[in-house]
Amino acid sequence: MGKPLIAGNWKMHGTAESARKLATQLSQHRSQDAVAEMIVFPPLLHIPAVSDILATSSISIGAQNVSQYSNGAYTGEVSAEMLLDQGCKYVLVGHSERRAVFGESDQTVAEKFRAAQNAGVIPILCVGESFSQRQQDATLEVVAKQISAVIDLVGLDKVCQSVIAYEPVWAIGTGETASPEQAQEVHAAIRTQLGKAGRSTTLLYGGSVNKGNAAELFKQPDINGGLVGGASLEADEFMNIAQLVEA
Ligand code: PEP
Repeated sequence: MGKPLIAGNWKMHGTAESARKLATQLSQHRSQDAVAEMIVFPPLLHIPAVSDILATSSISIGAQNVSQYSNGAYTGEVSAEMLLDQGCKYVLVGHSERRAVFGESDQTVAEKFRAAQNAGVIPILCVGESFSQRQQDATLEVVAKQISAVIDLVGLDKVCQSVIAYEPVWAIGTGETASPEQAQEVHAAIRTQLGKAGRSTTLLYGGSVNKGNAAELFKQPDINGGLVGGASLEADEFMNIAQLVEA
């Protein structure tokens, strides 16, 4: 069984002040003995301030993106070593917004995954199908292919040591959520693809999770927690969702 985890993707929202405020509220409310690990993914520029605020809390920090390169003449990029240096334990790779808006291919995502792991940062590999792919009954094939691209580059064991987030593209930021059955079907298929080594891999669901739909999703046998976007920007709502991972 994967370990319970709740992750909040703040995306490109907020100011330095609002990031500090949200981090402070979370650190005040999060118990040190909470069962699930909580991670926040602030905008890159706000990571140092958030990292300072959360230093004595049990909340981990992650980045929303990473370069596939380790250092050198790559203007505008940030390496996994730099993220580690700023206190990041995790990094998102292959978020659907990176794939769709910034054209990241399965190969680039796999290289980013490898760069993160090589530096000692745990990648959270995001996978998921578009609405038209679901309509064409291609969901399981699309997700398996996205995961296979990473397995081909780094090997199955390394993928099993990461976290995988199933996030149907049509459910991200839309208010639409996969039903618990739809989500479980994909999570079970991912578990099967990973084989024996993947029995303890943490698998998250993401896509318009809120405190109203989280309980049923997190009850599914192959769902170990959630990757939450919009609802993670409000401390009370995110805390309520986190409690449901532990229920
Ligand atoms: C996300 O950004 O990964 C996400 C799932 O967003 P939202 O919860 O807003 O759909």
